[in-house]
Amino acid sequence: MFQTRLCRQFTLQTTSKPLYATMKTTSIRFYSTRNPLFEKILIANRGEIACRVMRTAKELGIKTVAVYSEADVNAQHVKMADESFLIGPPPSAQSYLSIDKILNVARMTGAQAIHPGYGFLSENAEFADRVKTEKLAFIGPSGDAMRSMGSKSESKYIMEDAGVPVVPGYHGENQDVQFLKEQAEKIGYPVLIKAVKGGGGKGMRIVRSASEFEEMLESSKRESIKSFGDDKVLVEKYLERPRHVEVQVFADKHDNCVHLFERDCSVQRRHQKVIEEAPGPGLTEEIRAHLGAKAVAAARAVGYENAGTVEFIMDNVDKQFYFMEMNTRLQVEHPVTEMVTNTDLVHWQLEVAAGNRLPMLQEELKLRGHAFEARIYAENPSNHFLPDTGTLFSVRTPQPSADLRVETGFIEGDQISVHYDPMIAKLVVRGEDRNDALRRFRRALEQYQIVGLETNIGFVKRVAEHPEFIKGEVETGFIPDYEKDLLKPPAAPSAETLATAANAIRLSEIAQTQANAKDPYNPWSTLHQTFRLNMRDTRTVTFVDSKDSDKQYKVEITTQDKGDAVDIKVVSADDGSVLKTYTDVQAQYNEQGELVSSIDSKQVKSNVVMDGDEVTVFDEYGRTEVRLATPPYVIASAKGADSTGSIKTPMPCKISQVLVTPGQKIEKGTTLVVLEAMKMEHVIKAPMTGTISEVLYSVGDLVDENKSLVTFADE
Ligand code: ADP
Ligand code: ADP
Ligand code: MG
Repeated sequence: MFQTRLCRQFTLQTTSKPLYATMKTTSIRFYSTRNPLFEKILIANRGEIACRVMRTAKELGIKTVAVYSEADVNAQHVKMADESFLIGPPPSAQSYLSIDKILNVARMTGAQAIHPGYGFLSENAEFADRVKTEKLAFIGPSGDAMRSMGSKSESKYIMEDAGVPVVPGYHGENQDVQFLKEQAEKIGYPVLIKAVKGGGGKGMRIVRSASEFEEMLESSKRESIKSFGDDKVLVEKYLERPRHVEVQVFADKHDNCVHLFERDCSVQRRHQKVIEEAPGPGLTEEIRAHLGAKAVAAARAVGYENAGTVEFIMDNVDKQFYFMEMNTRLQVEHPVTEMVTNTDLVHWQLEVAAGNRLPMLQEELKLRGHAFEARIYAENPSNHFLPDTGTLFSVRTPQPSADLRVETGFIEGDQISVHYDPMIAKLVVRGEDRNDALRRFRRALEQYQIVGLETNIGFVKRVAEHPEFIKGEVETGFIPDYEKDLLKPPAAPSAETLATAANAIRLSEIAQTQANAKDPYNPWSTLHQTFRLNMRDTRTVTFVDSKDSDKQYKVEITTQDKGDAVDIKVVSADDGSVLKTYTDVQAQYNEQGELVSSIDSKQVKSNVVMDGDEVTVFDEYGRTEVRLATPPYVIASAKGADSTGSIKTPMPCKISQVLVTPGQKIEKGTTLVVLEAMKMEHVIKAPMTGTISEVLYSVGDLVDENKSLVTFADE
């Protein structure tokens, strides 16, 4: 028996930041024979998607049950549900993937249906079957439909029979190396090797010539057995200029099946989607109708029910498209479709699972405008998009509206842990046409301000500003092709940003002094006399560029004889040259917590976030990171390293890369070691600038938690 702790929690009302947009009213057709919806459902997932499903359930008056692992005790999905149950330790296999534990909670709470979300058990046919055996409704397709579509090879045979075009290739049983190589020869290079059971881009290898076929095949099989427990592969034609175009389909138990148009998800890194949009740019109505018809044929061929996505790969030259796979669940990027069709697909899922008809027929579905979604990941684009973990120290989101949604399961103060997917949120924006949507999308990305861990927000914004992307020239090679433009190093901090940051620090010191002065027991209350107003006084703040610690800036702030205005001088610490002087700068915080400064005959707003010695500024120059120059004795106790200056393993892991050697001088933030744990890679970065003394493990080593990996020399 596993331990189940009942903790009835209440919806969190205390956050000042709205998590979700107010839902627009969507059109729903009701039939006289409509069955009642469920009274209570269980959501077998976490994070953003669990919160998304619960939002619709709440709007419909359906009670919600959440399950959570020990890592998610304080998670938003737990707080949002009416009842929440602890189902096990952090590893998914013992919690979110445990069919027995989840069904047990469903039984105990009297939930009538289970929503699987995406990932985890969502495409597990056994789970779908067992839910039905328990006489509960599974909010998704049948186990049999999942099995037919679960294999990339079997599904292709079914599609060929149904008249749906598939990529030319071999997807049969024969796995003999020489035979597969002959098939590749027949198809013509380049070819793509794929794991038949694959997903998430794993096990895929491009082969450009016969000479590298065997090696690529072996490496694909190695990764496939590790990730999916099965090393069967297929070989297909590799399209050189492909787009990823997918179609949202929906079917009910009454033989109705519709499509809700297409999404383009070509902007990918490591074969994983980053930006999705609907409809697909540059497609004619004829192609659109053709795509929809083939997607419906694909769904009908497997007796599909509920929400599904048929993925096609499209040749961007001749716009021919081929079936790739079907995802038998609600997809991550479903909100862009909701935005352009004015639907709530979770509501549709609940109607269908309750045995009702589809709320709309094909003729009633119309496109309205254009929508974009960005997946906001905790990751570092300039370090191979490797995931980052940590605390969301400060989060500001754009203002939600009917045309702007922030779908997230995390708020300020929450942790992005090593145990699960590094996706923090999805930003979804709609406009009247593509340019309109794109402009709003860029603006919303500027207003999405996260401090505490690395994110891809800046990277996504550069994609959204790229001329080729603006033209709608999207192909799956977009990120690798334009990597140089997209990953260009940040510009040096602007003098104005430095002046504002220093002024914010001065203001917070004054506020602190005033707070201390009010406290008669505070021993420091008499110490900050230098900040007395109405007296000329100069305070110097020294900043170090976080990306390049050789660059230092001194900002001198001088108060005037009278009034609150100050004069600010920004000096390069390297050669003492004055970069800029500002006179009569006024600054105060507005109700949103932004610093409003009158500087250089204009008013500017900035968000200045201070986390220890790290200062992050968001203003019209974008995001700027600097840190306060600190005396060496403070650095010795910097966070991340213990008092002996050693970096430790955060969890049991395997060492996959070691990137530093003893004696090497490194900058704060340099990647030291890459670890593998929970089937994911984690990056260990230097918490300070210094010299490496020892490296205690090498590639392939299995290491316990809290072991010293790298030590720094005493300086
Ligand atoms: P999409 O086609 O919408 O990008 P994916 O198939 O890439 O969907 O995966 C959807 C989500 O499920 C992703 O967030 C991914 O991290 C998660 N996921 C994919 N495969 C697995 C798996 N084997 N185990 C757990 N989660 C997974
Ligand atoms: P997964 O199950 O891992 O999502 P898919 O078969 O859906 O695998 O393919 C993922 C991505 O790989 C696609 O979105 C596309 O970018 C690329 N891809 C897949 N098949 C081909 C192909 N035949 N030619 C070129 N690129 C492909
Ligand atoms: Mg896919």
